[in-house]
Amino acid sequence: MAPWWSERFANPSNRLHRPALEAAAAVELARRRLAEAVGGEAEGVIFTSGATEAANLALKGVAEAAEERSERRRGLVTLATEHRAVLDPLVWLARRGFPVTVLPVGRDGLVDLDQLADVVGPDTLLVSVMAANNEIGVLQPLAAIGALCRERGALFHCDGAQAVGHIPLAMEELGIDLLGLSGHKLYGPKGVGALVRRPGVALAPQQHGGGQEGGLRAGTAAVPLIVGLQSALDLALADREARAERLKALRDRLWEALEGLEGVTLNGHPGARLAHNLNVSVGGVDGSRLHQLLRRHLAVSSGSACSQGSPSHVLAALGRSRQEAAASIRFGLGRATQPAEITAAITAVTEAVAELRRPP
Ligand SMILES: *Cc1c(COP(=O)(O)O)cnc(C)c1O
Repeated sequence: MAPWWSERFANPSNRLHRPALEAAAAVELARRRLAEAVGGEAEGVIFTSGATEAANLALKGVAEAAEERSERRRGLVTLATEHRAVLDPLVWLARRGFPVTVLPVGRDGLVDLDQLADVVGPDTLLVSVMAANNEIGVLQPLAAIGALCRERGALFHCDGAQAVGHIPLAMEELGIDLLGLSGHKLYGPKGVGALVRRPGVALAPQQHGGGQEGGLRAGTAAVPLIVGLQSALDLALADREARAERLKALRDRLWEALEGLEGVTLNGHPGARLAHNLNVSVGGVDGSRLHQLLRRHLAVSSGSACSQGSPSHVLAALGRSRQEAAASIRFGLGRATQPAEITAAITAVTEAVAELRRPP
């Protein structure tokens, strides 16, 4: 990223001089690499400030384009466990007259495909289901959802923020029409992401101005961040399988140890989940005291960084009470995680739980 902040500072939208053309070439290279990585088309890549903007552009953009063409299809379908970046734009659209259906999930966090098939019909404009859940790591059956959407003529939007760079994801194969992703979820910089659109999907821009990104996202491209996103993606893809295998072994060791503690239960499907995620609930302890004790040793949370202290809507959708949701621990393992840290985490949780259960 470094040269693009300083000596290679030109604006890629300017097509008249060489430094600008070089910056534009760097952005186009990133666009091609990103499209290849997700099985999409380079011309469909729209760089954004992150996955939140990508989801807003996808959902509001599709709805507005449908309205402009007076389409009969206006229904929007999603799951209760989606990220706020999807749920909140849908609430906004519901207030503007788009019928929104929020489906529950099973206790394992997975969509019920029969239930989905019941609600996706001739009035459905778009189905939005994430690839991997940010709190519980659950992987939704994207191919089946994509096939259903194709069959019923609905668009399929997928929030891929937690999946791109971590699991294989091919838009064309999975029937995904719109895929969002975020740089900082794959070891890239914060403040950059993309929406990858299948060419031909009607989308109304949500930001107007200089006509950048094919007229779909005006504003000067963030060249250093886009170059950083591409480099991070290259690196993430290079060790994806080896990293997932290593982290899965560490995660399984962590779970096997915690499972042995009384009252500890897993949140989310045991198999259909990201290799580096573990989310557990600890029965019969006070959540705030648990996290107070864990804070000394670990950087873990109970819900999402984006939920600002309110109880997790994801754990609620799994049937967890407020108290159980508060006494939940979300572990995220990463490229830097070492076996000794897993041992330390096991000790920290074991001691915290023992302390909270010690009779007064
Ligand atoms: C982090 C995240 C987002 C928001 O991404 P930003 O790039 O931070 O805006 C959206 N969806 C999911 C699933 C996420 O994990």
